[in-house]
Amino acid sequence: METIILKRFDSPVEANIVKGLLESNDIFCFLQDEHSIGINPLYANALGGIKLMVRVEDGPRANALLLTNSTEHKVQCPQCGFHDVHDITENKNQPTWFSVFVTLFSRPISKKTYECSTCKNVFVFE
Ligand SMILES: [Zn+2]
Repeated sequence: METIILKRFDSPVEANIVKGLLESNDIFCFLQDEHSIGINPLYANALGGIKLMVRVEDGPRANALLLTNSTEHKVQCPQCGFHDVHDITENKNQPTWFSVFVTLFSRPISKKTYECSTCKNVFVFE
């Protein structure tokens, strides 16, 4: 069975809410690194977050479900004012030994980086 990362989360609570949403729509999914991060939330950055995994073939349907239910459409592009933005934080969040070290001595970063689909503006939103 081939799986893909559908979304990453900082908190097990949020991850389980979305997992429940997918399961109630008959989409098979599971969480990776949920327990390590549940025990110590400071590992969230180091491990690249809690990963919500779905089967490759369920990817498009799961994505569409997330889009209609996400809070991301509430984020507005400061440049053009459109709401058609997507979270690109995860691309910059690949764990390295350095990030593991930094994470152990700092608080998790809750800021997210978004890219506007309309004007390609990249901005940070808390
Ligand atoms: Zn824009």
